[in-house]
Amino acid sequence: QQPCECHGPVGDASTGRTIPHFHQSRVPKPKIMDSILDQVGDTPLIRLNKIPAEEGLECEVLAKVEFFNPGGSVKDRIAKRMFEEAERKGIIKPGYTVIEPTSGNTGIGLALCAAVKGYRAIITMPEKMSQEKVDVLKALGAEIVRTPTEAAYDAPESHISVAKRLNEQIPNSVILDQYANPYNPVAHYDTTAEEILEACDGRIDMLVAGAGTGGTITGIAKKIKEVCPNCVVIGVDPHGSILAQPESLNTETSSYQVEGIGYDFIPEALDRSVIDEWYKSNDKESFALARRLIKEEGILSGGSSGTALAGAIHAAKRLGKGQRCVVILPDSVRNYMTKFLNDDWMRKNHFLDDRAKQERVEATA
Ligand code: PMP
Repeated sequence: QQPCECHGPVGDASTGRTIPHFHQSRVPKPKIMDSILDQVGDTPLIRLNKIPAEEGLECEVLAKVEFFNPGGSVKDRIAKRMFEEAERKGIIKPGYTVIEPTSGNTGIGLALCAAVKGYRAIITMPEKMSQEKVDVLKALGAEIVRTPTEAAYDAPESHISVAKRLNEQIPNSVILDQYANPYNPVAHYDTTAEEILEACDGRIDMLVAGAGTGGTITGIAKKIKEVCPNCVVIGVDPHGSILAQPESLNTETSSYQVEGIGYDFIPEALDRSVIDEWYKSNDKESFALARRLIKEEGILSGGSSGTALAGAIHAAKRLGKGQRCVVILPDSVRNYMTKFLNDDWMRKNHFLDDRAKQERVEATA
């Protein structure tokens, strides 16, 4: 590892602020793995065939399918990297307690590392997040504290504040803090982006990703722009969140059902200067597209994958034949079996689109 004071991917280019960090070269996967953690990364890049054609896109659309990570999401990458760096610096040792506020997937990644490495994990998570995530976390041996979904990030009852309080109370406990930890974006700069560049022979015209902590889009975009300076980066943010720019896009204050993206504050891991444009998404199109990814492309990804694809369909209309759009699909439908995969849940939430209804009518006629 080389100490790096380089600008990217940590810090905001508009302020010039940088945080010292290290870069790691990618290592090929061993033939026999020491543990499941060796399986993190090197996920497939898969061409979408039917959906882009039906939506009238001329460009190629490639999906980076992150549910192939062992915990089932893109967040395994940052969990592993944040753990390794904290161990390297001696901040944590086996037997310590790792506490993390999360929408679930970072929790699963950290609980997976904790199970393999011998740590206690406590996950604080808003009530909105699915029972499926809770059950996986419990099976991995994590302890879970649920917090009110409507609590503002700085309210005493929020998942972030509760984690801080537990950290003060529990000896030898550490919050790795995905919202501000430099190794959140660095993990994507060093691996996810490199994998995409390698698969695309360094030719990418557009990158589309949703933002939660913003680590995924920040890390990938910074590295890709170093190689493809003309690549257009599209951030996707649900209505009800305030991450998008300009501020005038963030008009709605309503809540939304898609999990893992959007916030009521700007996390330090998100550098909005690398994002060229934002697309504001809604639940209905997100879940409709997540279902189409399953039904038409056979890709069993989660709700925020539908959100990212909505942004890609909107933005990639400007690309022509021979151009290439990469879209990040963060997690799996495994997390949402009782939610958008379930027709009753979709109907109750008024998300079943007319096309799905029509198909059912035709099938029963
Ligand atoms: N989708 C899902 C399902 C997630 O769990 C997350 C992580 N919160 C994201 C998207 C966004 O990733 P990031 O935090 O890197 O912006």
